[in-house]
Order: sequence, then structure tokens, then C-alpha cells
Amino acid sequence: MLSADFMKLGAEIDMINESEADWFHLDVMDGRFVPNISYGMPIIAQMKKRAKKTFDVHLMVEDPERYLVEFKNAGADYVTVHYETGYHIHRTLTAIRTLGMKAGLAINPHTPVEMVRDFIHEIDLLLVMSINPGFGGQKFLPLTYNKIRQAKDLITKAGSNTLIEIDGGVTLENAAEIIAAGADVLVAGNTVFSSPDPKDTIKRLKGVGK
Ligand code: ZN
Repeated sequence: MLSADFMKLGAEIDMINESEADWFHLDVMDGRFVPNISYGMPIIAQMKKRAKKTFDVHLMVEDPERYLVEFKNAGADYVTVHYETGYHIHRTLTAIRTLGMKAGLAINPHTPVEMVRDFIHEIDLLLVMSINPGFGGQKFLPLTYNKIRQAKDLITKAGSNTLIEIDGGVTLENAAEIIAAGADVLVAGNTVFSSPDPKDTIKRLKGVGK
């Protein structure tokens, strides 16, 4: 939703509701963990009143454990925190599940997939960043393909149900290769919202790999 037109947010939400998209992806940035500042709980709580699909909240913030209850109250179904943000990520992931939400863990491009091996069963979603987080509209980093394959291998061997989500630079051109590498969930912001017919672009993205 970072790429949506906030002057007509209601209509943008309706478009997603009516589209083939499965989830809303909400990027929260604090100006500390990432250079940019986006939006927070009050906006998400308002969006939730109109939205009819799963809320996938991606926290690009320092000390994410401080805000878990607030995001639960704002309507988050999934809360994803960054591996790079804390000393006690395992505790944060457990806290997310204790609050009744699905727990996601994001890794930046420089963080090896291997770092999540020991707690893969604590994660409902593994978000592999395919750009350096902070801004929409960046180009997909090719090193991501190998990380997706590694993540898929790790999850399969562990017998875990963890979903692999790819965030950043997803386009109609690279979606097939991303899915072929093992991704389950594709985040598409700019590709959808900057296209002339966003609903049709979602439909085409959903058709990739079928
Ligand atoms: Zn995101």
C-alpha cells in the first residue's frame, strides 16, 4: 500500500478488495531502521475498517517488540519484524504468536538465510528482502534468487509450513522466475499502482506460474 495514492485511499482499498490479490501489505518505516518514514497504527486501523483481506504488516522499525499490541489492535493478521533489529528476535516472534497473530521474519539482502535455521518453526512467514528496504520503486536484486532457493530448501528439510515472501522490485517480467525459485507470496507495490489498470495487473501477476 506504500505505492497507493493516499489522496484516494478508500478507492485504492476497494480496488484491492475487488481484485484477485490475497493480502494487503503494509510497510511501516520509522526513519531509524530505514531512512524513510511511512505510516503507522492510526492509518492502518482506518484502512482495516474498509479492507476485506488479510493485513500483512511489515515493520521496518527499531525495537519492534514495543509496538506489537498496538499493531494487533490496529488489525494486523501477520506482523513481520526484521532479523537485523534485535538481540531477542526469538522472544519477539513468540510474543507475536501469543497475541494471536502470524509471525513473520524479514531478512535484508546482506543477511544469510542460514541465520533463521534454528527457529524456522517459530516463523509463519520468511520475508526475503529483494531490495534494500526503505523506498518503493527499486530494482530487484538478482542475488535474491539464490536466497529463495536456499530458504525453500531449509523449509522443506525442516518440514515447516513457513511461507516465503518476496518484497521489492517484483514485476510481471520477473515474477515467474521468483515463483520458480520457490516463493509463495509476492509483494507488488509500484508494479500494481503505477500501472494503467491495477486490477488487471494483479490478475496477470496471479496468473504467472499457473
Ligand atoms: Zn514490505
